[in-house]
Amino acid sequence: MSAAVVSALLLFQSAEKAAAADSQSVSGSNPDSLQLVQNTTEQDVSFKDWLEDLKAEARQKGISESVLSTAFGKEQPIERVLELDRRQPEFTLTLARYFSLAVTDSRIKKGRALLAKHRPLLEDVARRYGVQPRFLVAFWGLETNFGSNFGNFPVPQSLATLAHDPRRADFFRAELLHALGILDSGDIAVDKMEGSWAGAMGHLQFMPSTFVAYATDGDGDGKRDIWGSLPDVFSSAANYLSSIGWKDDETWGREVRLPDDFDWSLLSISTLPETRKTLAEWQALGVRKAGGQALPDVDIKGAIVAPAGHKGPAFMVYDNYRRIMHWNRSILYALAIGHLSDRLVGKPALVATIDSKEPRLSRQQVKELQAALGAKGFDAGTPDGRVGPNTRKAIRAYQVSAGLPADAYPSLSLLQHLQQ
Ligand code: CA
Repeated sequence: MSAAVVSALLLFQSAEKAAAADSQSVSGSNPDSLQLVQNTTEQDVSFKDWLEDLKAEARQKGISESVLSTAFGKEQPIERVLELDRRQPEFTLTLARYFSLAVTDSRIKKGRALLAKHRPLLEDVARRYGVQPRFLVAFWGLETNFGSNFGNFPVPQSLATLAHDPRRADFFRAELLHALGILDSGDIAVDKMEGSWAGAMGHLQFMPSTFVAYATDGDGDGKRDIWGSLPDVFSSAANYLSSIGWKDDETWGREVRLPDDFDWSLLSISTLPETRKTLAEWQALGVRKAGGQALPDVDIKGAIVAPAGHKGPAFMVYDNYRRIMHWNRSILYALAIGHLSDRLVGKPALVATIDSKEPRLSRQQVKELQAALGAKGFDAGTPDGRVGPNTRKAIRAYQVSAGLPADAYPSLSLLQHLQQ
């Protein structure tokens, strides 16, 4: 894989992560409406004046003068950060496209080698925090291609740029103050505090607030160094995952085979699975392992997702899948972490084929899809070119009414069906 593709994927993930954090901090608002609402006077304040105000607030919070005098290189925003923040993806991201970038043969091979190389450390972390080594390595692989690319933007300056920009000012201002607090605590020198354009830091791309809440000193040198110390990196990630409820006696999920008469209303279509049943219940409904065998006879609940629609692979997902989603609220990301973690320990490739030639819908086509749904009385909200929960619900309602498999999947054939 070329470095450009890797970094494109990383940038996309960081954008998703910032967006997820944003939606959590501003519940119920979508970014578009937020943009209109937050058209405040801050936009008109020069970066220099804004920075003085920020420093005053930081002083009140006890940040030292030495940190404040060195944290910001120039008294101007980083234009590249604003450019990256304003990008809109041109196409919807498909499972085929995402997996072709995220779970490659070379990444599996490299991950296996690193899992073996760092096994004593990873097993020690697993004992202390209760997170299986293969998952830690999978996160490491997806976040920064195992530490080979964690971004070289100066974190304080990048966060200041985004906090000065009115679109998500409050979120990034809070992150910036956390970043200054980290510098003040002496964990990392300012010139080493590098990260993605959106402020995600180190091997596992922690936002500063995540660092403050969960970073740990794994090697005992008195500093939490998620840029340079793998014991710190893995302990911090495992501490985060165990704090949000990771279960080390369960896996993430598995690929499954659905019966021909599967009731598609049981499919979970939101980012957080909405229909959970015990494995015995799914077994009774005809769901099997991907190879056709019975589901495991264990007393846990799972949900079913099919992110490439009824023609693609289906997955049964357990509680740990929801924990991965907590890390990064993206179905494709969570499945890629799960599948990569399987491949790292020798489990097989997916049984179902993923159609790599399936056309991706452009933003414009998604808008047309949303408008066509609305015209037929299935409200997908104001057409914005983004496939969110309302769009999926409207697609499913239309599919039910038209007698189509109700997988809530926005495909080109569905768009054509609607436009007939
Ligand atoms: Ca340390």
